[in-house]
Amino acid sequence: MKERMKELVDLLNRYAREYYSQDNPSVSDKEYDELYRELEELEAKYPDAVLPNSPTHRVGDLVLDGFEKYRHEYPLFSLQDAFSRDELMAFDKRIKTEFPKAQYLAELKIDGLSISLTYREGKLAVGATRGDGTIGENITENLKRIKDIPLTLPHQETLTVRGEAYLPKASFEAINAERRENGEPEFANPRNAAAGTLRQLDTRIVARRNLATFIYQEAGSTEIETQEAILKYFEELGFSVNSRHLVSDSMDSIWQFIEEIAQERQHLAYDIDGVVIKVNHLSMQDELGFTVKAPRWAIAYKFPAEEKEAEILSVDWTVGRTGVVTPTANLTPVQLAGTTVSRATLHNVDYIAEKDIRIGDTVIVYKAGDIIPAVLHVVASKRAKQESMPIPKECPSCHSILTHFEDEVALRCVNPRCPAQLKEKLIHFASRNAMNIAGMGPSIVDKLFRAELVHDVADIYQLSAEKLMQLEGVKEKSAKKLYEAIQASKQNSAEKLLFGLGIRHVGSKASRLLLEKFDSIPKLAAADFYDIAAIDGLGAVIAQSLKTYFATKGAQKLLLEIEQLGLNVTYLGKKAAADALLSGMTVVLTGKLEQMTRQQAKEKLQNLGANVAGSVSKKTSLVVAGADAGSKLDKAKSLGITIQDETWLESL
Ligand code: NAD
Repeated sequence: MKERMKELVDLLNRYAREYYSQDNPSVSDKEYDELYRELEELEAKYPDAVLPNSPTHRVGDLVLDGFEKYRHEYPLFSLQDAFSRDELMAFDKRIKTEFPKAQYLAELKIDGLSISLTYREGKLAVGATRGDGTIGENITENLKRIKDIPLTLPHQETLTVRGEAYLPKASFEAINAERRENGEPEFANPRNAAAGTLRQLDTRIVARRNLATFIYQEAGSTEIETQEAILKYFEELGFSVNSRHLVSDSMDSIWQFIEEIAQERQHLAYDIDGVVIKVNHLSMQDELGFTVKAPRWAIAYKFPAEEKEAEILSVDWTVGRTGVVTPTANLTPVQLAGTTVSRATLHNVDYIAEKDIRIGDTVIVYKAGDIIPAVLHVVASKRAKQESMPIPKECPSCHSILTHFEDEVALRCVNPRCPAQLKEKLIHFASRNAMNIAGMGPSIVDKLFRAELVHDVADIYQLSAEKLMQLEGVKEKSAKKLYEAIQASKQNSAEKLLFGLGIRHVGSKASRLLLEKFDSIPKLAAADFYDIAAIDGLGAVIAQSLKTYFATKGAQKLLLEIEQLGLNVTYLGKKAAADALLSGMTVVLTGKLEQMTRQQAKEKLQNLGANVAGSVSKKTSLVVAGADAGSKLDKAKSLGITIQDETWLESL
């Protein structure tokens, strides 16, 4: 028993290190939670044998070097957790014995990392991580780069608030796609990605990553009486507050709320891992107090983990547009988070080696951030005599020898004429955020390629409707439509073209910033490294990548061809100049639009000088609401923010 306790403490401490300080967990939360429970039970049975370094006696996160340490004036805590309705009922019973009239406030458990913000006389003075609860890291400069954290409050308040910094699911996917392309290790989930981002020493990276917050707690004493009133007050102060919560004195109603949230979960723009239930009245909270680690007045119900066992049948290796070769496992189909999963990413060769994953293995599959299925680890007890995984030496597309660079986790095909890369480049070029050529999806690109009608992006503009009709399954009408879409894309504002070129590290937002500054692609190509690096939100990595790209003969030739073919290379969007119609305004889009896509509406607003934000707060200047708008619209109404519809936006 003592040995098992020591083993569990060592194991859990190692996992906590990987999770909190390396942002790279090697086991699932489910596995961690199960081991943790086992340890808790043993410690309850044998209190004399509790080890001093047991994780049950301290708040999890570790404090890293690299940032100044910050001693919290009021400690930050963890939460006791519940995995079943029965455990919630037991919690209810405990509370009601002391306070028969207790009310609860149930709110979403955001899967990010806790932050603490201290304002002195209305100004943001310190922003810190939770750390070990007493000492955290001072990450003020990074937190200032998160757009929904107010730098000043409407009055001269001095107060400390707590909340969660998180990465929206869409941004998480975009970051991982970029990391995959760059041969960098991917983040396991949005929480790790958010933590990794906030520990960046370069604030510009933080600025680029679209982190957001929900603020939910006030530290120290307050005049306010309930948690519900605190949330309202925070909204008035301009913080982002999650509007999905419920106040009730009945645990049955709270359970119903949890079931509703479980249904809504996959449609939320951010990750949650449960629902936190808090005693609503702060006076009762005060009396209930704390254990060594967590408040007695709150409990976190955690959703069952979405992970399943499946067998790896085979592995496909595919080449992305930058040459990175990615392994994907074909699995025996399993049901996961409401969908059938039969493929899962194995990330890269280093991941396969580290986890010793083999064909024929039974593995744990999970949805990373509920989005992309991934293989977490092998179920060792179910391994027969599998041979180690065959790793390709040659590119699966062009058969040139693959390279495994020292500083990369992935294999890479470095042949610039590799057809698979060229094909992926074309798919990217035609995609919505790039040149937005309707009808030119992966299957048409594949056909064009096989018919040898295109080799690079310039060739697209040499295609006639007649040539397109030669493709299998393409009739006259669709050939004409596609031809027109190609021609129309020539008039795009140049940031779409720049993004479409697929230059390493140059995403759609960076493309817009670059052209806002330099006006046209030729001027950007001639720009000075330092002038590029100095743009707020960009930096040396992007500047270097652009300089390298424009210095190649291939790029120079392509740009010349593009101009000769009549593609617009000038920025047509309005500069964020003071005279732009919506300049300086923060606009939120919500609901279903009829005439425009979300992306088109966003671009239009940006071109008119607006900053488009994801959530409504006091700082929002205007909300454009389409059909079936939900909580954002309600919130805008409650804050008295001007609301407009799609027709208005079109008329601008
Ligand atoms: P926790 O995540 O279980 O709960 C506490 C945290 O919830 C708070 O610190 C706060 O940041 C957050 N939170 C989100 N929304 C909230 C809200 N509305 N109100 C209050 N708090 C809210 O506890 P923890 O101590 O941060 O982490 C422990 C958990 O981390 C484990 O249960 C496990 O799931 C995971 N973990 C995993 C590994 C691994 O290797 N996979 C290792 C360590 C920890």
